[in-house]
Amino acid sequence: MKIADNLAQLRHEISVAEKQFQRSAASVCLLAVSKTRSIHEIMIAINAGQYHFGENYCQEAISKIETIAHPDLIWHFIGPVQSNKTRQIARHFDWVHTVDRIKIAHRLDVMRPENRPPLNICIQVNISGEKSKSGIALDEVDDFINALESCKRLKVRGLMSLPAPVRDFDLQRKAFSVLKQKLQALALIRPWLDTLSIGTTQDMVAAIAEGATIVRIGTALFGPRNATKQTIC
Ligand SMILES: *Cc1c(COP(=O)(O)O)cnc(C)c1O
Repeated sequence: MKIADNLAQLRHEISVAEKQFQRSAASVCLLAVSKTRSIHEIMIAINAGQYHFGENYCQEAISKIETIAHPDLIWHFIGPVQSNKTRQIARHFDWVHTVDRIKIAHRLDVMRPENRPPLNICIQVNISGEKSKSGIALDEVDDFINALESCKRLKVRGLMSLPAPVRDFDLQRKAFSVLKQKLQALALIRPWLDTLSIGTTQDMVAAIAEGATIVRIGTALFGPRNATKQTIC
């Protein structure tokens, strides 16, 4: 029952941080990052009331989504999106957090099935410079959002980032703060933008302090991951 205990602990920590940083109760959604985890582990989390799951690898994810086949689960794609996987991703997921190329966004838009609601997306922003290859630069975000206006099958929800890990709490906050300010500026004329997808096991509290609405947690929920190699989708 370790996973259920971890989940209860995380929910507690999130609600403490919400209070501490003047966030409304339940304004932070816990996204369980289930990449590399077994169906059994995911089922334990589901039985403890967890409904949002994040996956990075397309093949692995779709096999889990189809096996579990639970109508109430909300599946978030949080890995690099390859062009040849856009069809599968657009069919099976509710959210994609890692959109950083217009071409990929357009493909997701075209591929989103008519019988499903528009696909929720976040634009991935690189706030730690050249260290990470994924994500667009902050000063490219406005043009990027404008370029997505024609995508009627996408619902742009906000920004996502996975900054280079640092230990210091204030430095963690500083990086996230830049993103929060960007979202606030964008939302002045686009009030539907409501999502800041930031924070992992390492920097969850700093992310909540800086306005995270989705925190993406793997290790603190399921334990350390095996370093087995995965095919990135
Ligand atoms: C793996 C992963 C996480 C979860 O990281 P933990 O340190 O295990 O909490 C969050 N976001 C993304 C994009 C990931 O790939």
